[in-house]
Amino acid sequence: MNKLIGQYPDASGHFGPYGGRFVGETLMSALLDVEAAWASVKNDPAFMATYHALLRDYAGRPTPLDCATRLSDHLGGARIWLKREDCTHTGAHKINNVVGQGLLARHMGKRRVIAETGAGQHGVATATIAARFGFECKVFMGAEDIARQAPNVRRMELLGAQVIPVQSGTRTLKDAMNEALRYWSSASEDTFYVIGSVAGPHPYPEMVRNFQRVIGDEARARFLEKNNRLPDLLVACVGGGSNAIGLFYPFLDDPCEMIGAEAAGDGLDTPRHAASISGGSPGELHGSISYLLQNDEGQIHEAWSVSAGLDYPGVGPEHALLHDLKRVRYEGVTDEEAIAAFQLLCKYEGIIPALESAHALAAAIRVAPQRSRNENILVCLSGRGDKDLDHVTRYLKEAKGRKSE
Ligand SMILES: *Cc1c(COP(=O)(O)O)cnc(C)c1O
Repeated sequence: MNKLIGQYPDASGHFGPYGGRFVGETLMSALLDVEAAWASVKNDPAFMATYHALLRDYAGRPTPLDCATRLSDHLGGARIWLKREDCTHTGAHKINNVVGQGLLARHMGKRRVIAETGAGQHGVATATIAARFGFECKVFMGAEDIARQAPNVRRMELLGAQVIPVQSGTRTLKDAMNEALRYWSSASEDTFYVIGSVAGPHPYPEMVRNFQRVIGDEARARFLEKNNRLPDLLVACVGGGSNAIGLFYPFLDDPCEMIGAEAAGDGLDTPRHAASISGGSPGELHGSISYLLQNDEGQIHEAWSVSAGLDYPGVGPEHALLHDLKRVRYEGVTDEEAIAAFQLLCKYEGIIPALESAHALAAAIRVAPQRSRNENILVCLSGRGDKDLDHVTRYLKEAKGRKSE
C-alpha cells in the first residue's frame, strides 16, 4: 500500500481528481490569504502549542476512550470502543475545528468571523469561539433551518452572534454556504470565514482535517497504550466528513479497516437520503469537486436524514479519493437503524449519543456480531444527543403509529 499520510492534497489543493479551488476572482484573493496564513502556521510549534493548550483548557481534551463492554456482550462478537467527542465543551467534535480556525483568524488580525450552518451545530460552535476571542460573528442559516432548529438559533443569539436568514434556493445548508461565500467575497478585508467541515475550496479541506486529526491522534495513542495493538476496524459517521477524517487520518497507513457511515434516510433506493458517496456522483459544489447528490443536469438534490447534522448534499474531497482508492468503505445507514442504535447505547452504556453518531454506531453494530471477540472496533462518538431528544421521541411515536395502521 502506498503511504497516504502527507500525500494529499497536492500543492493545488487536489486529492487526486477531487478538491481544488473553483471560485471567482474576489473569493480567490480571500482564499489565497487564508492559504498563506495557514501555510505559515501549520508546522509552527508555537501556534500548534497554543491550539493544543486551548483544546485542553477550554474544550476539555483529551476525550476518553473506553470499551463499551455491556453493548459488546449484548451483541456477542467484536469489542466496540468509543472515542468520546461528546465529552467536549459544546458536546461535539466541531469545537476542535473552530478553536483552530479562530486562532488563525486572530493570527491574521481579523476581528469578525462568519459561518454557515444547517442544523445549527457549527453556528453554535463558531459563536462560542467568537465569544471566547471577542470577534463579531454572523451566521448564515437557511430560513427553513431557522424554523426547524429554534433552540440552536437561541443559543447563537445568547452567545452574541447575529443569525442571518437565507431565503434563496431550498433555504437550507447549501444555500447558507453559497450566501456566506458571497458575503465573504466583499468583506474578507476584516472577516474570516470559518467553514464547518472538510468541504469547500482549498485550503479548507486540508485545514479542517488537520484541526480534527486530534481525534485520531489521541485515539491511536490511547488504544495502543491500553491494548498494545491497533484496532481492527474504525467507524465514523460522514456528513461533510470532518469527524470521520479526523479519526481516520492518523491510521491511514496502518492495517486497519475503515467504514464511513453515510445517512441513508428512508433508504438508498428512495430519494430521501444524504449518502453523497453511496448514492451520488462526482460534480462541483461550493468551489470544489467531490461526490454530490445531483440529477443528470447537475442540479443539487436536497439531502434528507433524521439527523439534521448529516444532511449536506456533498462530502469532503478526501473522502471521495479514499472511496476511489477503496481505502475506506462508505455504507448507508437508514434512519431506522440509527434510531435503534441510539436506543441501544442509552440502554447498555448510559450514553445518549447524537443522532449523527448513532449512524456510526449502527454500522459497527451490523459488523460486530460477525467478528470474533478478539477483534476491536473503534467508533467515533462525534457528539452528545441531548439536542435530539424531542426528535427521537417524535420519530418513535410516528413509527408506532405506522406499525399500528
Ligand atoms: C456536524 C456533526 C456531524 C457531521 O459533520 P462531519 O463534518 O461529517 O463530522 C457529525 N456528528 C455531530 C455530532 C455533528 O454535530
